[in-house]
Amino acid sequence: MTVKQALQFDEPHWRRFTSLHEAGHAIVALATGEASVSTCVLAPTKTTAGDDASAYTELSWDSPDAYRTLLYAGAAAQQRWLHEQQLWTPLGESAVATLAGHDYQALEATGATPEQLWQAQATARALRDRHWPAILAAAALLEKNGTATGEDLSALLHQTPPATQTQMPSPAPSLSHFMDRARQIAAQSQQRASHAPDTTTPLPHAQRESLAGW
Ligand SMILES: [Zn+2]
Repeated sequence: MTVKQALQFDEPHWRRFTSLHEAGHAIVALATGEASVSTCVLAPTKTTAGDDASAYTELSWDSPDAYRTLLYAGAAAQQRWLHEQQLWTPLGESAVATLAGHDYQALEATGATPEQLWQAQATARALRDRHWPAILAAAALLEKNGTATGEDLSALLHQTPPATQTQMPSPAPSLSHFMDRARQIAAQSQQRASHAPDTTTPLPHAQRESLAGW
């Protein structure tokens, strides 16, 4: 069974869900100010690991912080959308994690500390919430045209007013909460890295990483 079948999304919902993952990567990447995006494409492709994928984003980055942040942003966008659409379920949450498997593997491969991972995820969520209107607009564009250029996405980011407040406020956590969360993320990242995705499960996109790197 594919993730799409497990979620029981109809085609428009699946297309929106997939578009949001790429839009999340792209808009948050641009919003860091330390990355650029060539293109987002909704089309069957192969990941660098040889798995089937249904969309991809080509981008490059200038700092390891920006790279870690943009890697978290695909899943972060899908999570917020599931909540907003009242489609969130534990199954949906695990689908998001499965579809972001290659992102978590890439995060693991950076060798980042738990604190760096926590910081990157927090930054990704903050940028997602600030630029949520632009992410929705980018997903709609991608859905409609099947592709979005870096120029389109950059224009959307700069022309769409940012959200004035987040709709998913989180309580101010204690320091011990930070550390627990960091350990949890590191453990999850480890776990995901050690479980290669089922090759019969389509992943939402492949990361076409730039050789420029940092
Ligand atoms: Zn991704």
